[in-house]
Amino acid sequence: MEQAVLILIKPDGLIKSLTGNILTRLSETKLEIVAAKIVRVSRELAQEHYKHLKEKPFFNELVKYLQGEIHDRKKVLALVYWGEDAIKKCRELAGATNPEEAEPTSIRGSYGRITTSGVYENVIHVSSNEPEANREIKLWFEPGEIIVELYPQKELLYKEHKVKTWA
Ligand code: UDP
Ligand code: MG
Repeated sequence: MEQAVLILIKPDGLIKSLTGNILTRLSETKLEIVAAKIVRVSRELAQEHYKHLKEKPFFNELVKYLQGEIHDRKKVLALVYWGEDAIKKCRELAGATNPEEAEPTSIRGSYGRITTSGVYENVIHVSSNEPEANREIKLWFEPGEIIVELYPQKELLYKEHKVKTWA
């Protein structure tokens, strides 16, 4: 089954210069990249992304982690991969959520760590299932930023809408 998956290289992955390694590992899947961008993560976006963990004691730290507040690297690299069994393939490569339990050769097993505050700094996010991928991709990307039509779209006519262009 062909499906899309949201991948985030989290701030610890960026500050550790792991972008190339992680993208190389992901290229083993032969999936297609259909969207990619660098994002400065707002508090609202981080909270919405991790809303399923809102009640957890580590939620505030987790939000700061995704925003890059902990690593002084305030950005993430967001990508959408697309193809056969994309979610399963990417989650297998990423490894378990807890880097200590992750298979040692997986991305999280190789590069993740558990902080003193208890947050798992596991360098990469991978959507966990199709409904989550759908929700997350729509949260991080606008339709025009994805080169294929993953989900139904609609057109709106904005009047007096301010946009930035090159001077
Ligand atoms: N997390 C954590 N401690 C936990 C569970 C999760 O620090 O006990 C963090 C970790 O960075 C993880 C993120 O919260 O990647 C999202 O958790 P989820 O359960 O969705 O795991 P994932 O889908 O990322 O494997
Ligand atoms: Mg998850």
